[in-house]
Amino acid sequence: MTEDRHAQAAKLRYPFPDAPAEGDAIEVAPGVLWFRLPLPMKLDHVNIYALDDGDGWTLIDTGMRTKAGIAALKSVMEGPLGGKRITRVILTHHHPDHVGMAGRLMRDGAELWATRTAYLTARMLTLDVQDTYTDESVTFYKRAGMAADVLEGRLQERPFNFADICDPMPLGYHRIRQGDTLSFGGRRWAVHVGNGHAPEHATFWSMDDNLVLAGDQILPSISPNIGVYPTEPEADPVGEWLEACNRFLPMAQEDQLVLGGHKLPFVGLPTRMRQLIDNHHGVLNRLRKHLKTPATAGECFQPIFKREISAGEYGLALVESFAHCQHLFHTGEAQRSLTDSGAFLYQT
Ligand SMILES: [Zn+2]
Repeated sequence: MTEDRHAQAAKLRYPFPDAPAEGDAIEVAPGVLWFRLPLPMKLDHVNIYALDDGDGWTLIDTGMRTKAGIAALKSVMEGPLGGKRITRVILTHHHPDHVGMAGRLMRDGAELWATRTAYLTARMLTLDVQDTYTDESVTFYKRAGMAADVLEGRLQERPFNFADICDPMPLGYHRIRQGDTLSFGGRRWAVHVGNGHAPEHATFWSMDDNLVLAGDQILPSISPNIGVYPTEPEADPVGEWLEACNRFLPMAQEDQLVLGGHKLPFVGLPTRMRQLIDNHHGVLNRLRKHLKTPATAGECFQPIFKREISAGEYGLALVESFAHCQHLFHTGEAQRSLTDSGAFLYQT
């Protein structure tokens, strides 16, 4: 979620500069429809792709389950999708803006295809309903250096639960894995599994034309949020994300049309991969300097984001800041100690 100003300026091209209106779809390649579903956040939409399989559609991701999301999906299914069945849902990753409505489509007969981690994590988090913050979550926020007033405020509220915005997820799925070849939408697709934004995040690279279904692994104009979460507090998603970027870089071609989970379809993937990698090296360099004076992750927003973080962005900013501090800790570049208030204090 760091803003990426040179992305707009440099050599990315947007062949479809006007996003489809709600309930509409745009055919971005033969048999490939792009539509959007609304999100109740600053990032107010998620991109969904429907690929024509003749007797039905394969859907890439499903949007969040909100009143507006359900209505928008219904109007796309009755309108541009022509009332034809959705026979398969393929998830890129487990986040609620992507899995939220998979459950209802499964109950209507769609198969669910996902990586094992995406499926298990989505199902686990949807089943894990908490009315108050768990002790593990409170410890996690303290270690991340969450501001005391923010933590105090949170503890007064019911925590966010996946189940609030995701359909129950039926048991059973089709596993996809690194190196698989899938056929849908009249094309064969090579599966390449990324990490960092979400564990075992699937991307699909057409072997018959120039399409890449990238999910949130590769986005234009915003960098994917890379966060540490209470489910795996000692994870190093920044390291894993850089590994995936470097692995994907040689597959990037000038003529590929990249269909991501947010913002606009774009062309210019080699440039974009380099920008994403450079962007995070830039963040880490600023953080190395900043941490010459000891600080908690909650005290590192300025060097990381270079702008003020609003209250609505605080949660995402904190997990991203924590992830970058943890990366320097895991690589041995920063020392970590625990303060009396339970926060990790980092120093390079
Ligand atoms: Zn997303």
